[in-house]
Amino acid sequence: MAIEIPRELLPVDGRFGCGPSKVRPAQIEALSSVGMSLLGTSHRQAGVKNLVGSVRERLTTLFRLPDGYEIVLGNGGSTAFWDAAAFGLIERRSQNLVFGEFGGKFAKAAAAPWLETPDVRQAEPGTATTPEPVDGVDVYAWPHNETSTGVAAPVQRVAADGALTVIDATSAAGGIDFDATQADVYYFAPQKNLGSDGGIWFAAMSPAAIERIDRIAASDRYIPEFLSLKNAVDNSRLNQTLNTPALTTLHLLDSQLEWMLGNGGLSWAAARTAESSGLLYDWASASDVATPFVANPADRSPVVVTIDFDDSIDAATIAKTLRANGVVDTEPYRKLGRNQLRVATFVAIEPDDVRQLIRSIDYVLAQQG
Ligand SMILES: *Cc1c(COP(=O)(O)O)cnc(C)c1O
Repeated sequence: MAIEIPRELLPVDGRFGCGPSKVRPAQIEALSSVGMSLLGTSHRQAGVKNLVGSVRERLTTLFRLPDGYEIVLGNGGSTAFWDAAAFGLIERRSQNLVFGEFGGKFAKAAAAPWLETPDVRQAEPGTATTPEPVDGVDVYAWPHNETSTGVAAPVQRVAADGALTVIDATSAAGGIDFDATQADVYYFAPQKNLGSDGGIWFAAMSPAAIERIDRIAASDRYIPEFLSLKNAVDNSRLNQTLNTPALTTLHLLDSQLEWMLGNGGLSWAAARTAESSGLLYDWASASDVATPFVANPADRSPVVVTIDFDDSIDAATIAKTLRANGVVDTEPYRKLGRNQLRVATFVAIEPDDVRQLIRSIDYVLAQQG
């Protein structure tokens, strides 16, 4: 091993990846304590249905959902939700803000042959862009947090003409505070800030969104059963999914939500991610060799921190050295191709571990001379 980082500089937990991300040891213990009665049991019986009900209730509390909003879930993660939205949520045309990989993927899914070409508003990676009301657009979509670049964008309703505001909160949910009344659909998968495992999408839906789903489902548009949002709404109301869900994902999410609510909920979580990310942004801003990738402080994500390095430093070597010392997944998003480190500062991650990460990076930089 090239460089051995002294033990006293290392984080207690070395998982800083943006997804799958750190699952707290207490969640794993909680899962193991119910493992024999939960895992391997039918998802049509009370045990699993109560678990789904608990997750739905806790998400409703965490997001302070207004009356009439519902938590809907289905299998396939956020990627499946994009296709489901193309089939069952976009009536004619969407506007998609694209400032990174994930926003771009929804824009591609929304370019379906039965819809009009999406109005795509593209911005350079590391910057954000804003929605603009356009006649004929009935869904405005963007990520709350663009995980590939570390740019966060506000959740703010666009138009009052019945168009829906649809937010990809996959890495933001439970880590950035927001006003739920400003979105019609706030969807995510729980393997990022919510510290669970993948495979299931969740969405907080407004009455207007559910009305839209019902209307499109009643039209003559062909919708595959697996991607039917109407199907998902109906099943969610019974605390179940169309087909078998990942029970481990549900349980890890439920115990994480219990922990978050017990500590003070969304405002507590947001303060904690702001503290952790602030440590890294301050460090990079003061550094001679590093700088925050996102130039505008207002656009900087509190949950995914991207740090560019000077040409004199090879960020990939830093990430590799950290990995060899048990500090993993600080590499940048693979397609971004920058001389960069990307660090998750999700709610599960201890701010003190972020302090130790910075000490470890400083040590590696000093050793590299
Ligand atoms: C990870 C991620 C996705 C994809 O989630 P899957 O559950 O793997 O499909 C979508 N959007 C954002 C913002 C993400 O970070």
